[in-house]
Amino acid sequence: ATYEVVASPLGTDGGQGVVVVFTDVTEREQMGQIRRDFVANVSHELKTPLTALLGFIETLQGPARDDAAARGRFLEIMGREAKRMSRLVSDLLSLSRVEAEERVRPDARVDVSALLRSSVQTLRPLAAESGVEMTLEGADIAVHVLGDSDQLTQVFHNLIENGLKYGGTGGSLRVVLTTSERELAFRGPGVRIDVIDRGEGFDPVHIPRLTERFYRVDSHRSREMGGTGLGLAIVKHIVNRHRGRFRIESTPGQGSTFSVMLPVA
Ligand code: ADP
Repeated sequence: ATYEVVASPLGTDGGQGVVVVFTDVTEREQMGQIRRDFVANVSHELKTPLTALLGFIETLQGPARDDAAARGRFLEIMGREAKRMSRLVSDLLSLSRVEAEERVRPDARVDVSALLRSSVQTLRPLAAESGVEMTLEGADIAVHVLGDSDQLTQVFHNLIENGLKYGGTGGSLRVVLTTSERELAFRGPGVRIDVIDRGEGFDPVHIPRLTERFYRVDSHRSREMGGTGLGLAIVKHIVNRHRGRFRIESTPGQGSTFSVMLPVA
């Protein structure tokens, strides 16, 4: 622990001794370090696509000025890099919003079954494109929670998108909704959403760190897939804000399961 010591003379004439105040500033220092790391990470994440963009602009203004084929190819890469920056900025905004609101409990009645059906429908084309067979089970009847429908939709999108991205081509992705009368974590009725892929999985040693901002099992792979490294951090904060639980399980070579449990309203 680190202590900040403040000593002040007792009495206005200064002759009666001193009062010494010890304050544990370990936590404050850790927060400062986390903030500095975060700023460094964000700068790095933005700098990489920006450097690529500047490089291509220079090439297009100079050596590739009259090369139509190169121009088309470069513009395509530039578009991809710009989209990545835009995604990163939106994810940063989402993250700062959910962090700021974490203590405020959302209170609208939301049907998670309906949200899940619409998330799955929205992401069907992406599943088809990735050659993944996606199924939704158990979401036929309404299940209400107290929540924020935009934020819960973001949770489902992030988890399903990850399942499709890392779930492996030609694989399968199951999205399963289950309700229980007595979910242990809440001592009352709960609903659980499992997103189960048959992809490459990862060593469980990564699990405790996966919800940290910018933590990735394989950075190269994540960037190639257009990932920002913020998806699971956002999921964790939204689930916390809903008094829910978030669980990750994975077996290398067999796949992963990401589960969200929410108290039923
Ligand atoms: P990213 O934008 O990199 O996908 P996330 O926060 O969503 O960021 O995920 C963090 C990391 O967790 C990913 O980079 C990836 O290594 C790992 N990951 C997430 N979902 C899966 C999954 N379904 N299968 C395997 N690895 C996953």
